[in-house]
Amino acid sequence: MSFNDDVTLDTSQVRSGGGGGSGGPGGLVVGGGLGGIVVLILALVFGIDPSQLPTGGSGQAAPGQVQAGGEVDPAAFQECRTGADANRSDTCRVIGTVNSVQAFWAGELPRYKREWQETPTVLYSGATQSACGTASNQVGPFYCPLDKSVYIDASFFEILSTRFGADDGALAQEYVVAHEYGHALQDQLGLLGKAQQGGTGPESNGVRIELMADCLAGVWTQHASQVPDEDTGTPFLKPLTDADIESALSAASAVGDDRIQEAATGRVSPESWTHGSSASRQKWFLQGYRTGDLNQCDTFAVASVEG
Ligand SMILES: [Zn+2]
Repeated sequence: MSFNDDVTLDTSQVRSGGGGGSGGPGGLVVGGGLGGIVVLILALVFGIDPSQLPTGGSGQAAPGQVQAGGEVDPAAFQECRTGADANRSDTCRVIGTVNSVQAFWAGELPRYKREWQETPTVLYSGATQSACGTASNQVGPFYCPLDKSVYIDASFFEILSTRFGADDGALAQEYVVAHEYGHALQDQLGLLGKAQQGGTGPESNGVRIELMADCLAGVWTQHASQVPDEDTGTPFLKPLTDADIESALSAASAVGDDRIQEAATGRVSPESWTHGSSASRQKWFLQGYRTGDLNQCDTFAVASVEG
């Protein structure tokens, strides 16, 4: 999904992370008695978990091994001024997508008597600290409810196509960003806590929370070409093409639990699913995309989220 070339990007919504410093204000780093709780929350809100995949000899760190922190050069953000920049650089595309998704929810929520709380993204390289623990390319993008921020590793989009097998289309990347902002919305609506009740499995609360986030990403997608940038009034994104939707579906399919398990171990264990099958992730993204309606994303209202 391409940006209109002349929209302006707001880099203040994205921070550069890295350098591995521990414990920001609040200091809720993993450790001590809190560790277990923090890790649990973190595990439940991940978009995906690259550590479950075979490393494939591409120079990736072994699971659990955190590479030395490297900071995303803040100078790179200064190159992100317009939609044209978002069309040529992954970093600028994250910034543009964050801008568009937040502008959408800020405009949409008042219809439900709610106000969107601005949620920053930390774009980092290597590893960085979050209030939910260490973020690294071994854990994938996630939303941390303890510091109300989205964390995205700059190299993740390459991993998405090279290791998960998603296509490298723009909407595949934008879907990942929009999914994490779906978790931010769930947090603001008081729904995220449900993910911690009910264990794992295809119909578990955790899977329902994830599929709802996929659906919310679809709702944004349907409206994305109408969300204007404040400065110019021009919509951030151009109208969708069929190829865009195929890209998003390839990403949703690539991060399905069944597909990841099959690739990692050669077998599928539905009882341990945390995010849902490839089919259900595509189904719920499409449900949001086709209806454009937040109310159609209530994955807790249906008997089965599959099929
Ligand atoms: Zn998620």
